[in-house]
Amino acid sequence: MGERKRKLQQFLSQHKKCIFCGGTVNATTIEHCPPRALFQNRTAPDGFEFPSCVPCNNYSSDEDLIVAVIARMGSPKFGDSDGKLVGMMKALNRQRPEFYKTFLPSATEARANNRQLGIEPGTGMTHQEMGVLNINDETRAAIRVFAKKLAKGITYFESGLIFKNEDCLALNWFTNANVIKDGGHKVFEMLSHINGVTPELSRNRVILNNQFEYKFSLSDDKNLILIQAKFGESFFLVITGCMTPGHLEDLLEKTHQDLERDYQPFEIIQGKGANPVKPR
Ligand SMILES: [Zn+2]
Repeated sequence: MGERKRKLQQFLSQHKKCIFCGGTVNATTIEHCPPRALFQNRTAPDGFEFPSCVPCNNYSSDEDLIVAVIARMGSPKFGDSDGKLVGMMKALNRQRPEFYKTFLPSATEARANNRQLGIEPGTGMTHQEMGVLNINDETRAAIRVFAKKLAKGITYFESGLIFKNEDCLALNWFTNANVIKDGGHKVFEMLSHINGVTPELSRNRVILNNQFEYKFSLSDDKNLILIQAKFGESFFLVITGCMTPGHLEDLLEKTHQDLERDYQPFEIIQGKGANPVKPR
């Protein structure tokens, strides 16, 4: 038996069930979440390898690529330290030929975007080169798919708990453009009083928190989770989840009514009221 196969068998003997589809199906593969492509030189933090069935592992390859490209493009200081970004962008163009049509802003759109944010290009720079991107439907769909997997991965990593398919997960997310507009990470600030763990993430002593970092909170009854995650300077996720089906959905519905306006800070991505179809 090869070394790789032996390691896989050993891993699966300790982690028997796929954590992505409810914890009832036997796992046969290892899924990396976040995807390794998101990290410079594919150096992903230790332990972010999860037991997965084949369908769950194959389900999100396009979405993983979109998320990795956005995380890198949105972190200009280090997002392309390994020189892989252009190759990844080309790969995305092959997989999703329509993607860039709506993702990369036209000159007019770029100028409007930048004006709205109150930012001006430097000398010799165009508005398009400022890197403010259009968040299109495909990006939104990819983030939803990714957030669902990430929540399950982090929860398993931190607590050993596995979300069932009928349990609720809800998402709020924002980009660096929102941070400029709001003058800070508003939602993180609102939630800063909630206790949680923010682990140092590393592999071979390389600290990776600049690329991926999170705060994980779990209620005493192990029923509610809250994850606040940062992907470099690019985008930010807040995911809340509940292991009692229907409970969180009702709570969110009530919050929505209390706010008395057409704004729901959290979108249900799994559970009652979630969009059941994988958006394309
Ligand atoms: Zn599965």
